[in-house]
Amino acid sequence: MKVKALLILMFTLAGSLPLQAAESPIAIAIHGGAGTIEKSKMTPEREKAYRDKLQEALDKGYAVLDRGGSSLDAVVTAINVLENSPLFNAGKGAVYTYEGRHELDASIMDGKTREAGAVAGVTRIENPINLARMVMENSPFVMLAGEGAETFAQSQGVPLVDNKLFDSEQRFEQLQKAKEKLEKEQKRDKDYQAAVERLPTPYKMGTVGAVALDRQGNIAAGTSTGGMTAKRYGRIGDSPVIGAGTFADNDSCAVSATGHGEYFIRYNVAADICARVEYQGKSVAEAADEVINKVLLPVGGTGGVIVLDAEGNMALTFNTKGMYRASRSSSQPAKIAIFRESE
Ligand code: ASP
Repeated sequence: MKVKALLILMFTLAGSLPLQAAESPIAIAIHGGAGTIEKSKMTPEREKAYRDKLQEALDKGYAVLDRGGSSLDAVVTAINVLENSPLFNAGKGAVYTYEGRHELDASIMDGKTREAGAVAGVTRIENPINLARMVMENSPFVMLAGEGAETFAQSQGVPLVDNKLFDSEQRFEQLQKAKEKLEKEQKRDKDYQAAVERLPTPYKMGTVGAVALDRQGNIAAGTSTGGMTAKRYGRIGDSPVIGAGTFADNDSCAVSATGHGEYFIRYNVAADICARVEYQGKSVAEAADEVINKVLLPVGGTGGVIVLDAEGNMALTFNTKGMYRASRSSSQPAKIAIFRESE
C-alpha cells in the first residue's frame, strides 16, 4: 500500500513538473525618471510617496499580465498611473516650457508586429500614452505632432483638456529657478543651447515608462513625458522617437528610456541596445550597460533605461545618481528602488 501511494505521488509530481515548466513567464518593469536623486535630499514622506506610486503602477500592470492580458495593455495601465500622479514628469505634474505651459510627448511599440505610435508636443491630452496607442492602432501613421495630433484625438472621441490640468506648484518653482539660472548662464555666452546643457539634471528629467512581457510571449514598451523644464521653440526629446526613447521587438528586446533626450536621439539608444542583443548575442544587462555606461557616459549623456527580453530577463540600468524604478516577474518578487543599490 505504501509503495502504491509513493508511486502515485511520484507520478503526480512528474506530471505536474513539465506543466509548471511550460507555464510561460510574465514580467514588467517601470521607471519614473533618472537624475540627481539622492537619499540625503529626500524626506522620508516624499520617498514613501514615490515608492507607493511605483508600487501601485507595478501592481496594476502586473495584474493585467497575470490575468492573461497583453503586454501593450500592461504598459498603458502602468503608465496611466504615473501620468495621473503629480509626482512624475508626465501628464499631471509635467514640467513647464519656457513660456510657462506644458507640451507632452509619448510613444508605444508592439514587439510582436513592430508597429508603433507616437505623439509629440501635445498640450490638451490627459493621457498621451493612450493617444500614442490610438495612432498606432487606428491610423496609418507612426508619429503625430501638436494640433494635428489633437484633431486626430477628437476624431477618436478623446476629449481635449485645459493645459492647466497639468499644473503643479513644485514644477512651477522649478521653472522659475531654471529661468534664473538660464539668464545668468546666457549672459556668459549668449548660447541658449549651451546654457540648457549646463542646467543641473533635476531641471531636465523625470519621464515615465514601462516594458512588459505577456503570457503569449509578446513584449511591448512605452514612454510618456513632459520633456525638459524650460524647453522652447517646440523642442521634442527622445521619448516619442521610436528607436531613441522607446523600442520593442520580440526578437531582441523592449526598451523605455529616460534622460537627456538630445543624447538619446543622437545615439539611437533604445534601438542600439536591442541591436546588440540581436546581432551580438549580448544579454539585456550587458547591452544596456554598454550603451548607458560605455557609450553615453563618456560623451556626457546622462540617464537610464529599463530593458526586457521575451524570456523575461530584465535590466534597469542608469548612469545617474538614481532612477525611480520597479520590476516584477513570475520568477522574481516585486522590487522597488530609487537610489543606487549602495545607498
Ligand atoms: N528624455 C526626456 C526628454 O529629453 C526627459 C527625461 O527623460 O527626463 O524629453
